[in-house]
Amino acid sequence: MKSTNKKVNFILDVYNEKCPKCRKGYVFKQDVRVLNLPVMNDACDKCNYHFEREPGYFIGAMYISYGFAVLQGVLTFLILNYGFPLLETIYKTIIVVLVITILGRKNYKLSRVLYIHIFPW
Ligand SMILES: [Zn+2]
Repeated sequence: MKSTNKKVNFILDVYNEKCPKCRKGYVFKQDVRVLNLPVMNDACDKCNYHFEREPGYFIGAMYISYGFAVLQGVLTFLILNYGFPLLETIYKTIIVVLVITILGRKNYKLSRVLYIHIFPW
């Protein structure tokens, strides 16, 4: 039971973009403007944990982001393919691209936060 709570907390902390060390501060600046690129804090405002451990640290997060985008694209395509079989392929393709584009900002943030949580020190 305690292990399940730990996993749920881990997922919630990653989803809510919390610091991997104190789990109170935020990794990204809290910005509600949707069209701006997300801006990372240099360090946690609660515990001063430095997020970018070394130059190029977040290159690995690109693979996670790529995985998220592929997963979302495949799931969207499957839902469209089996839920709307009469929809033409060009519309399915456009919708898949739109879904990936719309979720791209959250993917970017989630992949970096997940990477920090997986490789914290
Ligand atoms: Zn912190």
